Amino acid sequence: MVLFFTHMESRNLKTFFVRTYGCQMNELDSEIMIGALQKRGLTRVHDEDNADLLLFNTCSIRDLAERKVMGKIGHIGRRSKRKSIIGVTGCMAMAKKESIFRKLPHVDFVVGTNNINDLNAVLDEVLETGRQVIRTSEEFEENLNYIGASREDSVKAYVSIIRGCDKYCTYCVVPYTRGKEVSRDPDAIVEECRHLVQQGFKEITLLGQNVNSYGKDKPEWNALFHDLLYRLDKIEGMGRIRFMTSHPCDITVDLMQAIRDLPSLCEFVHFPLQAGSNRILRKMHRIYTKEQYFEKVDLLKKIVPGVSLGTDIIVGFPTETDAEFEETCQAFKDIGFSVAFLFAYSARKGTPAFRWKDDISEEVKQERLQRLMQIYQDICSKERADMIGTEVEVLVDRRNKDETHLKGRTRSWKTVIFTGSDALMGTLQKVKITGYNHQTLLGEIK
Ligand code: SF4
Repeated sequence: MVLFFTHMESRNLKTFFVRTYGCQMNELDSEIMIGALQKRGLTRVHDEDNADLLLFNTCSIRDLAERKVMGKIGHIGRRSKRKSIIGVTGCMAMAKKESIFRKLPHVDFVVGTNNINDLNAVLDEVLETGRQVIRTSEEFEENLNYIGASREDSVKAYVSIIRGCDKYCTYCVVPYTRGKEVSRDPDAIVEECRHLVQQGFKEITLLGQNVNSYGKDKPEWNALFHDLLYRLDKIEGMGRIRFMTSHPCDITVDLMQAIRDLPSLCEFVHFPLQAGSNRILRKMHRIYTKEQYFEKVDLLKKIVPGVSLGTDIIVGFPTETDAEFEETCQAFKDIGFSVAFLFAYSARKGTPAFRWKDDISEEVKQERLQRLMQIYQDICSKERADMIGTEVEVLVDRRNKDETHLKGRTRSWKTVIFTGSDALMGTLQKVKITGYNHQTLLGEIK
């Protein structure tokens, strides 16, 4: 079905609004698109009612995220005096393709994750023809204009090093929306990071669905993830390096030693356990057992004393019993995760798990979620109480919401607030921990 629109005839676009859903990779993609639109001469506005172009960079990872964006765009479309052009980009564009036009007929264009470079051309086509336009190539596009990205933050920057995923966990849409793993050329990554450091960025987070797989798809490069880290650490003026996300199977001893040895590399590893029962892990196709995961944790803690660990956990996966959920709770306590993203399972269309009966009731899922959240809270409180009186390095990156405190993160990704002047923004400070409030540490500059 091709629709013709009259609301955009002879339109002279001046302003645009962008809403980003989902992960850091999407945030980076938005920054690249914002850069491209600004280069075209458009001005970004933060009020959607005053925008000539509305861009929704979407996420498909959870049902809720999709429903939110569909609801939002549907609501805009029902407004009687709509004048804006509406574009849908990101993972939902890849997953739903033309069907977006059927469900949301007022959407003007759909651009997939491999067609970000085509954004302005698509916009031109929409303006010239008044037709709906779609570009959702399956072929990976690695030469995005990263240098031209309009960064949201002036202290911290995201850098994409690998896109896609080959792991095919049974609940996850990423291999279908982002495709297979494709690593970015190491020279291009080093060049981009050098450029960011020269621009004054103090912290770089290397992004990928599975950063630890970096370089495996290009054996001729002879450059695996830890090799890349050694090169990046050598960049003059490099502040901090972080990375996410890691698949437990691909975390190597070489990487652990790099975390121990490279001054810029933060001692925090986010590598999702997902569940504590071997049967559920198998059903999720996580390709490790709980015991293998624990072996990695033990080795990591031995090689990098004091390392902080982060995880994602899904509760209420199809057929998960109470006893299996208890195993997850126990594993969580035993490892003592410092950072956790906890989710109730929701079936995603197009994944193998979608075919299975979602047999755990919402009530039970929520009970399990609350239980795990309490365990997480208890670990956080103890960890933070133990830090009182210690001194930590904090990268000051913004003013706290209360406007009286500065805010920043420790190397282990904990948030600290303290009083200080704006002149400290973007600097590394030694802060003494004096207390905590929920998950936030309170401190004073030494
Ligand atoms: S490792 Fe699994 S959960 Fe992570 S992106 Fe790949 S398929 Fe999805």
